[in-house]
Amino acid sequence: MKVDFCPGHIVDSNFVEEPESINDEFFMRMALDEAKLAYEKGEVPVGAVLVVDGTVVARGRNSREATGDPTAHAEVVALREGAGAAGTWRLGAATLYVTKEPCVMCAGSMVNARLKRLVYGCPDEKGGAISLYGLLTDRRLNHTVEVLRGVLEAECAGLLKDFFSTRRGGRADEGVGLENRCGGNSTVGSNPTPSATEKQKKPEG
Ligand SMILES: [Zn+2]
Repeated sequence: MKVDFCPGHIVDSNFVEEPESINDEFFMRMALDEAKLAYEKGEVPVGAVLVVDGTVVARGRNSREATGDPTAHAEVVALREGAGAAGTWRLGAATLYVTKEPCVMCAGSMVNARLKRLVYGCPDEKGGAISLYGLLTDRRLNHTVEVLRGVLEAECAGLLKDFFSTRRGGRADEGVGLENRCGGNSTVGSNPTPSATEKQKKPEG
């Protein structure tokens, strides 16, 4: 079956694999399910799944609040679980799907895990290790990771925007920052409103 590659997906220069695009959306929906579970727990809604040979081997969702652990990002949780299941830190056959562009810590964890491939949803232009540093394709490092971004971007960004818009007045310091990072200024979620957009642009403090 011919699969049309979604033109909205932005592919890193060292990576193009058209036939995987349908699977990419399938697994990103599973990552979104994890993000929604985080949302329900009052955590910043980011979710991840780790896939090897078409099989989900681990799932993760942001759980910093519940654990009090600053490293409990969705990606790290999934990498830890996947490595534990595999019995090795080497995850060179695995693809990690995550709803938001990874931070420096998580991208570094992917390099250390020798991850094969990363697929993420929405960008994080103020905190993303790829947007800011091109960390996963820097050939000075001893490992590079194939990257595909923009899969289900609007849904991934929309979940974050919705989360922070409903928490206004709570931890607004973090909320404002992340809102402005994720989803850029053109892509909004499934239930955007102009007033919400304006509020998100309000500077903190
Ligand atoms: Zn992270």
